[in-house]
Amino acid sequence: MREGPTIGVLALQGDVREHLAALTAAGARAVTVRRERELAQVDGLVLPGGESTTIDRLLRTFELREPLRERIAAGLPVYGSCAGMVLLAERVLDGDQDQRTLGGLDVTVRRNAFGRQVASWEEDLPVEGVTGGGPDVRAVFIRAPWVEEAGEGVRVLARVGSGPAAGRIVAVRSGDLLATSFHPEITGDDRVHRYFAGLVRDRVQERVRAERRG
Ligand code: GLN
Repeated sequence: MREGPTIGVLALQGDVREHLAALTAAGARAVTVRRERELAQVDGLVLPGGESTTIDRLLRTFELREPLRERIAAGLPVYGSCAGMVLLAERVLDGDQDQRTLGGLDVTVRRNAFGRQVASWEEDLPVEGVTGGGPDVRAVFIRAPWVEEAGEGVRVLARVGSGPAAGRIVAVRSGDLLATSFHPEITGDDRVHRYFAGLVRDRVQERVRAERRG
């Protein structure tokens, strides 16, 4: 593919601009998604960090919840960071009373697991599939969730290495759903976005090949 895949960033609330920039740096065509017709045009989607309860409410207001659930069920690659991880989780602990998620990812996450401080924890971590033999990823956790329990088909890509949360799962992948508790979009390191853009590109190429075979 000469041009990168089209990857949307759900732009209802949260750090949308940072994700658009990281996706562009990773070689994707990055667009905002607020409407169903915009969602229909993307090959992959990022759910940004922000506040999962607010994004949940806005998804319903913008009538995006059901179309998005349908596309996730149909195999849309999605990367959720922080609040986005909460939105992808099938189960949430410490959620608000009527908080719902989009689901798709067979994990239980604990919201605000690191505590409620503004910047709760930072650490350099190896992330499977992302760091390879290279330097660790700077993981910045901001009122972040962690994965309390992961289902059988879920691959753990990273865990906290030290401190009170040592061993906690903070990056996972299941099929084409990817989630991190941390915010790579704010560190200027686009390797997680490259990893995601790569998997979206693979799916687009598979689709094009299948259509040619027709
Ligand atoms: N605590 C937020 C939530 O539950 C997530 C914080 C973030 O995305 N930085 O949605």
